[in-house]
Amino acid sequence: MDVSVAKKYIQQHIELFGDEIYSDVDCNYFKKYNNSISSYETLDSFKASIENCEKCDLSLTRNKFVFGTGDSNADLLLIGEGPGEEEDSKGEPFVGKAGKLLDKILKAIGYSRDHNVFIANIVKCRPPENRNPLASEVEKCTPYLINQINLIKPKLIVALGKVAGQTLLKENMLIKEMRNKIHQFNNIPLIVTYHPAALLRDPSLKIDVWEDFQYIRDFIKS
Ligand code: URA
Repeated sequence: MDVSVAKKYIQQHIELFGDEIYSDVDCNYFKKYNNSISSYETLDSFKASIENCEKCDLSLTRNKFVFGTGDSNADLLLIGEGPGEEEDSKGEPFVGKAGKLLDKILKAIGYSRDHNVFIANIVKCRPPENRNPLASEVEKCTPYLINQINLIKPKLIVALGKVAGQTLLKENMLIKEMRNKIHQFNNIPLIVTYHPAALLRDPSLKIDVWEDFQYIRDFIKS
């Protein structure tokens, strides 16, 4: 806008409304809104606000709500599918056999679950018999994950396994098709690798996963 036109607008504004500058946006509304957001501005307060969730039937069979764990300022966010039996009883993600393997993989790239890493799942409660989460369960739980991502602001998201990859990418692709590419999730780079449980079933996949995690390490350092 031309400076003289801008001056004219300001002059008109002062004549009409006095010299208090305001816009027609209700500032109090924003303050209130921001205050309500800032009350969830830590992962802990967000967790406290959702851990008694009853939005789907998984709440009827769970023992513990599995929010996720790790460094709230992590560069690396790992996302699995959903809690299994041990996770359900401890309230922490990836604490069973697959989790122990994941810890070893993280250690091999110089990380640990408490240092620069956060681990979460697509759904926060255990699907009975470890079945895949239903689309309706995923839909109800995804806003929680998105809020976690917004709070953590990771440099890289890694989807562990087909369910996490397909859910985050909204694609029905095979893991082989999702691997070896940098996707985006809400403008954050996302890659897909095998779920550690798949490595326990088929150790030949370890070579691919090792390559993926070396890439992850280099990506985060870059
Ligand atoms: N498998 C997952 O996908 N998540 C867990 O937390 C444990 C096992």
